[in-house]
Amino acid sequence: MTMKRRAIVWFRQDLRLHDNEALQDALRNAYEVIPVFIFDERTFKGKTSFGFPKTGKYRAQFIIESVADLRQSLRKLNSDLIVRVGKTEDILFSMAKECKTSWIFCNRERTAEEARIQDELENRLWSIGQEMRYNRGKMLYYTADLPFPIQHTPDVFTQFRKEVERIVPVREPLSKPDRTFNPLSFEFPAGDIPSLEELGHNVDDFAKDPRAVLSFKGGETEGIKRLQYYLWETDLIKNYKETRNGLLGGDYSSKLSPWLAQGCLSPKLIYHELKKYEAQRGANESTYWLFFELLWRDFFRFMGKKYGNKIFQIGGTRGQADPRWTENPQVLQKWIDGTTGVPFIDANMLELKHTGFMSNRGRQNVASFLVKDLNINWQMGAEYFESILIDYDVCSNWGNWNYIAGVGSDPREDRYFNTLTQAKRYDPHGDYVKHWLPELADLPADKVHESEVI
Ligand SMILES: Cc1cc2nc3c(=O)[nH]c(=O)nc-3n(C[C@H](O)[C@H](O)[C@H](O)COP(=O)(O)OP(=O)(O)OC[C@H]3O[C@@H](n4cnc5c(N)ncnc54)[C@H](O)[C@@H]3O)c2cc1C
Repeated sequence: MTMKRRAIVWFRQDLRLHDNEALQDALRNAYEVIPVFIFDERTFKGKTSFGFPKTGKYRAQFIIESVADLRQSLRKLNSDLIVRVGKTEDILFSMAKECKTSWIFCNRERTAEEARIQDELENRLWSIGQEMRYNRGKMLYYTADLPFPIQHTPDVFTQFRKEVERIVPVREPLSKPDRTFNPLSFEFPAGDIPSLEELGHNVDDFAKDPRAVLSFKGGETEGIKRLQYYLWETDLIKNYKETRNGLLGGDYSSKLSPWLAQGCLSPKLIYHELKKYEAQRGANESTYWLFFELLWRDFFRFMGKKYGNKIFQIGGTRGQADPRWTENPQVLQKWIDGTTGVPFIDANMLELKHTGFMSNRGRQNVASFLVKDLNINWQMGAEYFESILIDYDVCSNWGNWNYIAGVGSDPREDRYFNTLTQAKRYDPHGDYVKHWLPELADLPADKVHESEVI
């Protein structure tokens, strides 16, 4: 045990107790540990460069729920979660000064906006003789474990996968803290978790749509429940490879993405549960495939680290923009509102607008349609997704958009999703389109995708 020193744990997109390195590190080093979450006003009340709310209502609600769940879990350990709204670096710096802490522990972020805040805070802490301690927590693989330096990460997913999956072991996830926290020697107001309204959203607008794939609820508790459901309770994982391109209902894919994005679930926990499942109930292509998809998530994060801000720029990681792209706001709005007239696109965009979620198949199609059929600058689509997605993850979103727009790591030149072919293949009876466009309910299956929605 060390001297009676104090530390802040700054929770970011690691809203969990299990496999939380920053938390464990703080508990190991400090006698008093103060867990904090900040609703940063720039992230929750700001706008993207094309004017979308930076954090739309579905994700804001999910984060509110996740923070509430984390607070509950910490209270069971004799601790609490201090919650504030404002500018992160100002709030944490004043807290560190006032509480005379020694360190702030947090999971290190690598993308520009997040890194800027963390760097600013670190500089200020140095000025009062305190320091930031960085941990890792977002991915399956650690940069330090890779068989190549970040700058040499293969740009093609298959090559990346082959170079890591058989060689690099996924580390064991850490367990939850196994003891209660030491009491703080001073009073510190916990603060209220802001409501959706206080974060600038109209609550009358927020009714969970009964047509949604799932009623997502934020938090580690719910994330673990979903994982248990998908693996152990239903064995849905056994057929994941066959069902994962589905469009309707909660079960065609894992739906773990919102919990992964906020760090309510650690990917290492998912991996080790999968391994346990394979040992007890058998491995097959489907159990492997969930791991395969998690590798995509890691891959895009490594691309983000390798290329930095390029993933946000119009030329992407390749540095090649298409001169045909325009920024026509009327055309963009039709895409957003699901009024392009193409049923498969409109159904997907309506699902996104009314629920904050869309299947992977849908995302590929609507993104390709925006960029390659409507010739709109892909950054506008990526920013709309950033705003509205319940599972927005900076590298997964921008990396996938780079890929679909042809400015990223896709080895195939000019990949194009033919909407009609895709619609007939993945929605052969038109059930999905009719679910979101009930005005087409009476059309026969062979006509539904070819109709023009007025
Ligand atoms: C244009 C576009 C934007 C996207 N934006 C995001 C985003 O902001 N956040 C996000 O989590 N995913 C994003 N994806 C990837 C993918 O669509 C979602 O992860 C998936 O639909 C979530 O549903 P699921 O959890 O049921 O996925 P499952 O099929 O069950 O996959 C399991 C997990 O693997 C990961 N995964 C699966 N496919 C991908 C992929 N292509 N790229 C990266 N990770 C993947 C996710 O963490 C997912 O939860 C995007 C895809 C496209 C084409």
